Amino acid sequence: MSDTPDSMGGAFPPPKVRASRPGRFERRERAAADALRTALRDLHMDRFGAVLPRAEEIEFTFRAKCRPGEQWVLRFEPPLTEQAGVQLEEAQAGWGIYRAGRVYCFRCDSSACEHSRPPTLLSVFAGYAENGAAEWHDLGQAFLRARDSRVEQLFEEPPRVLALMEYGRTLRTRQLYSFGRASRTYSILGQVVAGYFLRPRGGAPPSADRRMALTFQVVETRNAQGRFALKLNLLAGLADEVALREWLVSEAASWVHRARDLAERELEEIERRMGMGPGGAAPSAADEMKRVPAVMRRLVEYIERGARQSRRRTRHAQDRRQAQRPIHAALEDARQAGAGSIFHDEKSKAFAVCGPQGRIHIFSRDGRHVTSFEMRPDAVAQRVRTRRWRPADADEVMDLRSAVARFVPAPNAPAAEAHAGGGGIRAVRFEGSRGQPPDPTAGTG
Ligand SMILES: [Zn+2]
Repeated sequence: MSDTPDSMGGAFPPPKVRASRPGRFERRERAAADALRTALRDLHMDRFGAVLPRAEEIEFTFRAKCRPGEQWVLRFEPPLTEQAGVQLEEAQAGWGIYRAGRVYCFRCDSSACEHSRPPTLLSVFAGYAENGAAEWHDLGQAFLRARDSRVEQLFEEPPRVLALMEYGRTLRTRQLYSFGRASRTYSILGQVVAGYFLRPRGGAPPSADRRMALTFQVVETRNAQGRFALKLNLLAGLADEVALREWLVSEAASWVHRARDLAERELEEIERRMGMGPGGAAPSAADEMKRVPAVMRRLVEYIERGARQSRRRTRHAQDRRQAQRPIHAALEDARQAGAGSIFHDEKSKAFAVCGPQGRIHIFSRDGRHVTSFEMRPDAVAQRVRTRRWRPADADEVMDLRSAVARFVPAPNAPAAEAHAGGGGIRAVRFEGSRGQPPDPTAGTG
């Protein structure tokens, strides 16, 4: 026995006016089709909720056995719910509506279209357009839209890692209902956008932009069995998923990995409780779902805290490396720097010495070394253009050189002692009482 919902739908409801009374067979076929129709409708409702399948037509095949010797008794084998259930699931699974690393685009009905992934490494998910197209913008724009005043910190060198939570409704403000706004088969409950993370340098030159933004989305969807599912979807503009996985398991990103793990486990727990009733209709479903924002808030917290700790660790490692350097590169770079490589920082009133390979050293007016860091040439140019840095004049260069010379340690003195005795190479103020991570760009300001 084979039929499609369409032909069943075509048969019901019966037209009010007919030329002649339908024949016996016709009436019976219609009754059988109607019984099947309601069975399929209710089964779908139970398993997948009220949103209709996206397919315009689904083909069903049913198997039944009949015993003529027993008054033609008929039974479905396997049972009808099983046969229909499997076929509904297949139709559902065929859509591929949820795909890790991609966002579902309602405009294209696809998780594989050009809109479904971040177009650049700096992109985070911006939301849906009226027609359901997935849209992206730079992380900085997300902070501007949220009127988050910390946006400037994103452009520090190196960038500070910030995270921001956005509710699903913010991402759907423009989306029309006819383009999936109320979909429960794919619904972004909220997201955390974060960055800028620094990818490993690899073989890239120091001037290469290593910044990367990430979007963590909490997605309510239905798995192939039609059950309620909660996913934490990580979206990144990396060229391929392998590169992202490698970065995530690397030492440099271990805290991102941990934060994501924790959030995933919390969502799994909510999903488990929600799945206790059919179609996610557990008695406490509403209460369970209220726990989702808390999961996202914790994700924000873990990411930002992890970034601060990682920054501190990196800094300590840098300190150790620096302490081990002969005399220290800073003083050497300062001695060698031409007049064109020394700038006065108008904000911090300190001097910035540009050494080779993007090395920048900050010296206070009296010649103390404050900090060193790396900076891309375009960032240097930006500071000169905005007049935060102005080229030091000849007198300043001479004064700085003689002031710095006073701190050059005696030839046999260990570098670390030279730092301490030389007026404090490490600026204690950076490890201030606020517990803030040191900010190398703050100079002595
Ligand atoms: Zn699309």
